Amino acid sequence: EIHRLAKYPPNFPEAAVSRSYLDLVFELPWGHCSKDKLNLAACRRQLDRDHYGLQTIKERILEYLAVMKRQKSMKDETYKAPILCLVGPPGVGKTSIAQSIATALGRSYIRMSLGGVKDEAEIRGHRRTYIGAMPGRIIQAIKRAGTDNPLILMDEIDKLGSDYRGDPASALLEVLDPEQNRSFRDHYLELNYDLSQVLFVTTANTTETIPDALLDRMELIELSGYTEEEKTEIARLHLWPKQQKLNGLAAGELRLSKTAIHGIIEDYTREAGVRQLEQQLARIARRWLLKKEEKSGPSAAAPNKLLQRRDLTRYLGKSRYHYDLVDTKDLVGLANGLAWTVNGGDMLNIEVSAVKGSGKLQLTGQLGDVMQESAKVALSYVRGHAAELGLDTSYCEKTDIHIHVPEGAIPKDGPSAGITLAVAALSALSGRPVKHQVAMTGELTIRGRVLPIGGLKEKMIAAQRAGVKTVLFPRQNEADLDDIPASVKDKLQLCPINDAQEAFALALAAAPAGNS
Ligand code: ADP
Repeated sequence: EIHRLAKYPPNFPEAAVSRSYLDLVFELPWGHCSKDKLNLAACRRQLDRDHYGLQTIKERILEYLAVMKRQKSMKDETYKAPILCLVGPPGVGKTSIAQSIATALGRSYIRMSLGGVKDEAEIRGHRRTYIGAMPGRIIQAIKRAGTDNPLILMDEIDKLGSDYRGDPASALLEVLDPEQNRSFRDHYLELNYDLSQVLFVTTANTTETIPDALLDRMELIELSGYTEEEKTEIARLHLWPKQQKLNGLAAGELRLSKTAIHGIIEDYTREAGVRQLEQQLARIARRWLLKKEEKSGPSAAAPNKLLQRRDLTRYLGKSRYHYDLVDTKDLVGLANGLAWTVNGGDMLNIEVSAVKGSGKLQLTGQLGDVMQESAKVALSYVRGHAAELGLDTSYCEKTDIHIHVPEGAIPKDGPSAGITLAVAALSALSGRPVKHQVAMTGELTIRGRVLPIGGLKEKMIAAQRAGVKTVLFPRQNEADLDDIPASVKDKLQLCPINDAQEAFALALAAAPAGNS
């Protein structure tokens, strides 16, 4: 290529192409690696310094680093570090954990977002015959890192797309596969490049949309949402000091009381992580600064302030969110379900009404296919066991059932409302009210078995926040209770259930006298 460039006349367009190619080749590190620090005590300190809580995650990462250290000391050339995949809702610290690992190891850190990448060429580059051809993102990342062993964070691997321009997932597979990435071939570079020293870490919000072949190669570490207590501590110890520094506030100039932080979390954010919380804290810091700077004269030297919850509207405007609370009385046909979304857990009211008709089922509230099926299963179960449940079979046949899940504009899906749908349906058909302080979750089978569900921690947090006293959950989820903080568990009565009959017994009150 150098020979070719030497032969081109200076202003020849090909010369520029040739030159930028050569620039890239010479800028790549070609085997230059930074030396790993691999001091586990220092790594632990780094992870603890940057993050509150997350104990199991930190342990898991330290185990991973310990294995890496041992393998390095044995000079095992065949050792391939597994690829970590941090899975969890937005704002729970996935990116910042990856950053801490890089800092602890002393490796350069490069983040690339894979969200919306549809074209294989983005990973692997365009051939140089194309006008404006460029190397792919992997080679660009190595160039930016300046070493052959950076930590490359591939964000949002679950949002990878694919279309007629090729499948980026298969290109990534090659990048992440230790058998193949020793000689990765970028279309632009056209030289084999050794990626085997790179530490790849990926993040995702959910594993459902990650292609199976990729999922197989990664080791999953799941992060769940934070409780309110955890968020308060994170705000106090990490987010607020960071925002003070970013906005130029002196330490102690503006302090936040615990109740104020609680107020921000409850009234101004709705999320599993702490991203909105961080934004709201930044807003407070900016507003405070503006107000202080605008005041001239003696008031500018106002004493340090401790912000209280009642001051929040002055800084953040009216509160934006309010959480649904449990009803104040037992109602017929209304049951509290618990749902999991990327924003964390939520309480979901399920309303059922029974009206005269011909046994039809109507569903409203933007229920997804799976949830509609759950509703049918729930109703089949109740109707199929009508006699046993003390219902009049002929009455059931002459009754239409309408199931509605409020906040109709928000799509809802998933099988975990099954048991709630059955309880609400039985309540509507029997006239027995549902106990208002009970909430429940669990998939239901036609035979009435209750199957396990995901997101138990978030659901329990939502239940406690909504004022629920008793939570019914699938017995097979009992192992997940270990992940739920005591501050949440202690306030709830937790009832593991195996089947629908147990749920009915626990959730339904007796029918009022005179009701048949
Ligand atoms: P994600 O990658 O999961 O979306 P981020 O890593 O971007 O989340 O986290 C958002 C912000 O919250 C960052 O400023 C991060 O430092 C902070 N953060 C999240 N979890 C914690 C924690 N446990 N301790 C301290 N800060 C945290």
